[in-house]
Amino acid sequence: MSLIVTGTIGIDTLHAPTGSAEGVLGGSCSYFAAAASFLTPVRLVGAVGGDFPETHASLLGSFKDVCLQGLERRPASRTFAWGGRYLDDMNRRETLFTELGVLEEAPPKVPAAYSDSRFVFLGNTHPSVQLDLLRQFPKRALAVCDTMDLWINVARPELLALFREVDGVVLNDQEAMQLTEARNAVSAGKAILDLGPRFVVVKKGEHGAILVHREGVATLPAYPADATQVVDPTGAGDTFAGGLMAHVARTGNGDLATVQQGMAWGTVMASFTIEAFGLERLRRLDAKQINERMQRFQHAAKVG
Ligand code: AMP
Repeated sequence: MSLIVTGTIGIDTLHAPTGSAEGVLGGSCSYFAAAASFLTPVRLVGAVGGDFPETHASLLGSFKDVCLQGLERRPASRTFAWGGRYLDDMNRRETLFTELGVLEEAPPKVPAAYSDSRFVFLGNTHPSVQLDLLRQFPKRALAVCDTMDLWINVARPELLALFREVDGVVLNDQEAMQLTEARNAVSAGKAILDLGPRFVVVKKGEHGAILVHREGVATLPAYPADATQVVDPTGAGDTFAGGLMAHVARTGNGDLATVQQGMAWGTVMASFTIEAFGLERLRRLDAKQINERMQRFQHAAKVG
């Protein structure tokens, strides 16, 4: 069942109490696609500029089952670049810079061969670009989007238009509260349901994630932080979404029970990402490690 992701492909500079990484491959699309590819083939749509290093393209291509036909190169443009710094407890981060580059231009082109995609994830980027891309997948069975503080601040009307057309929204608790002015994650999730989607997944970092829908609320713990070594939390949200959507796509069913199971796969994928800077841990990952951790997580959390 065809899964597609759109969003940013970026060059990240990261600072954390555990160290720093300069100019590494990042972006919502990259993390999502790398994580999803362990469970199901994934198509990627995103643009990069002439400054995008060939080593980053090879790293993306080294993940089995990531299709790069939709990676658009614009020689005269600059790649999206982002810098972030984590504060001492690793739960809070500040953005040091955001250079939009190609994000200020036309949306990336969707290859004709991708138009039959059934499961669509609109990773973080400008919401009007997300909406434009969404409409190019007329055969979709399930469309889910992400967003973040920058877009809530600068493009709220476009974001609300997007929410009217997607089936699901995935975002973190701070963003959900910022968007709705609710005082807790569940109320924020419910307020987002009123904007259109049939489910909302509110991520709460080391406290897990909550699925909010019209019939109720389900919570899922995070993979215990003391069982992993948190080196760099960047991309945890995107790899969570990658695991979730990949499970839904390979099952071929977008019902709430499958989304809930997908949250467990997303949690396990995110638990690996945070063990190293950038995509380094995912690069060294294999199916056996994923399945072992999933079994341990199911046993501890009694899920799945
Ligand atoms: P996460 O830690 O899951 O929120 O994702 C971090 C990734 O998002 C980094 O690799 C950044 O390149 C990318 N990113 C940061 N800011 C934005 C933004 N405003 N829109 C899209 N992607 C972003």
